[in-house]
Amino acid sequence: MKEDKNMTRRHALKGLGASVATLVVSPALAGGDSGAATQKKNPLENPLDKYPKPPYPKQTQPHPGLASKMEPLPDHGEQSYVGSGRLRGRKALVTGGDSGIGRAAAIAFAREGADVVINYLPAEEPDAQQVVALLQGEGHKIVAIPGDLTDKSFCENLVEQTLAKLGGLDILVNNAGYQKSNLSILDISEESFDATMKTNIYAPFWITKAALPHLPPGSAIIATTSVQAYDPSENLFDYAQTKAANVAYVKSLAKQLGPKGIRVNGVSPGPVWTALQVCGGQEPDKLVDFGKDTPLARAGQPAELASIFVQLADNGASFSTGQIYGAAGGGGHP
Ligand code: NAD
Ligand code: MG
Repeated sequence: MKEDKNMTRRHALKGLGASVATLVVSPALAGGDSGAATQKKNPLENPLDKYPKPPYPKQTQPHPGLASKMEPLPDHGEQSYVGSGRLRGRKALVTGGDSGIGRAAAIAFAREGADVVINYLPAEEPDAQQVVALLQGEGHKIVAIPGDLTDKSFCENLVEQTLAKLGGLDILVNNAGYQKSNLSILDISEESFDATMKTNIYAPFWITKAALPHLPPGSAIIATTSVQAYDPSENLFDYAQTKAANVAYVKSLAKQLGPKGIRVNGVSPGPVWTALQVCGGQEPDKLVDFGKDTPLARAGQPAELASIFVQLADNGASFSTGQIYGAAGGGGHP
């Protein structure tokens, strides 16, 4: 089949058709083809025209938002991610795995052969069930555990349930996040500030404490931080502080756990097209031009970050710990 770039782009956010998907990531690539043969089967993709660009349709949703109600639909790699057994036998917990960057990581982990638990808020059940429906029957476990991470006892219970369902844990992805745009510090309510701190700082602390006694040497912990840690926007005063805390979490914990053989790394996204942004994370007027000021002149898609999570979890990255990997379309500072 010949590549049709326009067609590829058209299908990308409507759920890639299976035939087109084979063009995006050729299974033959995993088989080890190289040189000219690979070029034919895995054509170059220009990142500039791979996905929709601003202006995006104006939209808002109540928190926590559903990826399945976004327009255009985000691409989490549902049809395009093809694994090659890099994480076979591994056991992963991904918070915020129902949608966005967490969903993309969960799909990639599962397709690489890992058993995966996803956590999310009960209101996100429709998104979570899409992930379960997509991945079940592919030969690995996919387990959905709803619950609110601002509750310490739930965080502890989530780890217990994960251990019971998967029979262990060796990839922990602290990815869930709360982001509420406020134009002034005077507009930030106690409740909102508390939700930001609890979700983004306390939950990873509680989950990590509960998980650590069960993580064998070789395990990987991955945190999702943000460009906001390095270059905070004026409207994300509280959120940006939590993302800086996530960087410190990675850098400190990596030193602490290195001697135990446990690696700790972070992913620092720039603007990515996810539910977080349409349910209060950005001012709706600004979301229309989301990502326009990056060198790629568009927002990233969750699928474009998935391979970073796989790389950080993989045994192959055994000398990488305490690192922050950027995916910001040309900006950012990690
Ligand atoms: P998303 O909305 O798809 O995912 C965030 C998830 O966090 C939600 O799906 C939800 O399940 C979870 N969550 C929030 N509050 C929770 C709570 N109290 N209990 C349980 N789960 C809760 O959006 P996303 O952009 O994929 O966010 C994932 C991570 O990426 C976040 O940590 C976010 O800070 C980070 N990030 C996103 C961007 C971006 O532009 N989208 C940029 C930088 C960093
Ligand atoms: Mg969600």
